[in-house]
Amino acid sequence: MRRVSPSHGARGMLTRCAIGLVVLAATGCATLSVPEEQQLADRFEADIRRQHRMVTDQVIVGYVDRIGRRIVAAAGPQPFAYEFSVVDDPEINAFAGPAGMIYVHTGTILAARNVSELAGVIAHEVGHVAERHIAENYGKQRAAGIAHTAAVLGGGLLAGSVGANAANLATGLGLTGILNSFGREAEREADDFAVHVLPRAGYDPVGLPSFFETLIAEGGPSGPTFLSSHPAPRERLATTRTAIDDLELPPDLRRDDGGKLEIIQRRIELLTGESGPRRRDRSR
Ligand SMILES: [Zn+2]
Repeated sequence: MRRVSPSHGARGMLTRCAIGLVVLAATGCATLSVPEEQQLADRFEADIRRQHRMVTDQVIVGYVDRIGRRIVAAAGPQPFAYEFSVVDDPEINAFAGPAGMIYVHTGTILAARNVSELAGVIAHEVGHVAERHIAENYGKQRAAGIAHTAAVLGGGLLAGSVGANAANLATGLGLTGILNSFGREAEREADDFAVHVLPRAGYDPVGLPSFFETLIAEGGPSGPTFLSSHPAPRERLATTRTAIDDLELPPDLRRDDGGKLEIIQRRIELLTGESGPRRRDRSR
């Protein structure tokens, strides 16, 4: 499940763009190439693991990984080998990193009412990677000459975490937030990707709008990640429902997985002491 290194032999290109990053000038590398995005991923992962506590339990991580792999397999040939990780964080959220790095919070797993909801969230994040939104985001930020963004990216990616942390403190923006600050169009594309790939992976696509309902009820996360403010979640809920209505779906799509999700949820509760919104409601 580890990401494999790119075998593109593109060291020269990496070096050229690395120089461009250091100089922080638009040097013709407006959008990241696949090998460049892979290089960004290595730095990003180190940064993420310093900032977040990751779940190491292989039963939990393996469960999310298997769902993710079904989705990636259904998406067809991909430029990256994906890696699915679980962040020990009770906030309902998920985010994508460069080159197929997908992170799902334990809060999301606990809040899912069935496996199709969790699959919906994961498929949305896979959509951001597959549609190359991370690479586009990076290119847009740099092209706009946003100095603090460039400083965060340049510092974090090439000079190690010290520069990035200093820049993050100054701007209040982390690398995750910057790379996941998707616009309206990108969010729509990722939702649309999810709606179409989920049935091919055997999951009921209704899981995605269904999870939006939970997010709305819970207030959603505060950061620019899974539940971004544009478009509004209610609009995304309506748009995805309409898109699903237009699909001809096979009758045997899975919504539940025979109690496996519930076992994983109990395991998370035991390991972390967290509990999902419905369990909390019951124990009040
Ligand atoms: Zn998104």
